[in-house]
Amino acid sequence: MSGIYLHIPFCRKRCTYCDFHFSTTFESYRADLLAAMMQELGLRTNELKEPVQTIYFGGGTPSLLSPKELTAILQQINANYQVSTTAEITLEANPEDINQEQLEAWKQLGINRLSIGIQTLSSETLNWMNRAHAVHEGLTAIQLAQQLGFSNISIDLIYGLPGLDIATWKETLQKVFQLGIQHLSAYCLTVEPKTALNHLVQKKKLQPADEVLQNEQFLVLIDLAKQAGFEQYEISNFARPGLHSKHNSSYWAFKPYLGVGPSAHSFDGQKRRWNVRNNTQYTRSVGKNDNWFEWENLTPNERRNEQILLGLRTKWGLNAAALEAPWSQKENAQIEEFARLGWLTFEDQHLILTDKGKLHADGIAAELFRVD
Ligand code: SF4
Repeated sequence: MSGIYLHIPFCRKRCTYCDFHFSTTFESYRADLLAAMMQELGLRTNELKEPVQTIYFGGGTPSLLSPKELTAILQQINANYQVSTTAEITLEANPEDINQEQLEAWKQLGINRLSIGIQTLSSETLNWMNRAHAVHEGLTAIQLAQQLGFSNISIDLIYGLPGLDIATWKETLQKVFQLGIQHLSAYCLTVEPKTALNHLVQKKKLQPADEVLQNEQFLVLIDLAKQAGFEQYEISNFARPGLHSKHNSSYWAFKPYLGVGPSAHSFDGQKRRWNVRNNTQYTRSVGKNDNWFEWENLTPNERRNEQILLGLRTKWGLNAAALEAPWSQKENAQIEEFARLGWLTFEDQHLILTDKGKLHADGIAAELFRVD
């Protein structure tokens, strides 16, 4: 199984909290950049050994692409890669771009999964986030997509937000689970250094939730998702049974994928590689087939650490039998201690975090890391 990720680095507005790679002034070079992405697709055909099972348009804002642009990219993929007829094809779409015409075009193109950036159901919050949509637009977008036959819809939500109390968070989740969606990605707000949000926090204009409240909101999320019939298959991801994101699941299962576009990352089972995070430089360098990426070979310990970190985050847990070397005595003692604290359980050689353990996922993984 392998996947292709396409990074579309264009956005209408700069959301205050976002540190992804994107530009809001892209019209002058839009066509050239997309042509470079198609060239990159053409240059890397030998890198995927297995049929493509997932294609993911992420960003940035891929829903800013016209149907003609999306068609050209998909044609280039189909012309150069063996794509499974049952491939999961996801498009990240912002509510302001969703209308009947777009949805019909996306459907016709074979896009069979939408990931809609809702983020919150509070107008006041959307406002300081500098999002380009209103609450009602988000809800209408979901409804319209459902009416037009999209049966695999994911939405994004953020918690740990300034001013978000438990009652409002519960209300948000209850409303969201009544929308008939199949998948929810819910992330705790992080204040990234080079963002407008960081500036607002430094100036004391906004105050994110403290860790205690964040944890409480996370546990409420787990509880309400369970009650609504959603499975928490990764720390931040919840799905109706059988409808987890195949694309993201393959990242967590350490499967190979190709990342195309500025800032996109790739993994071939041994090497990680990342494209330059600059639109002009990317376009120019791909055009000359000259150094638009860097790469590193993972050492055995780095591979092991990633397997631990990613495996522990999933409901299937960390398959200890798949690690290249068994646990040391010290690591075994550490694992026993985590089990005694009620943070993890063992099932068929898999280490699985409990709900309480999920609050400490990164710390638990870090304790089991090996350094070169
Ligand atoms: S639309 Fe998405 S990628 Fe673009 S700035 Fe907002 S959060 Fe970031």
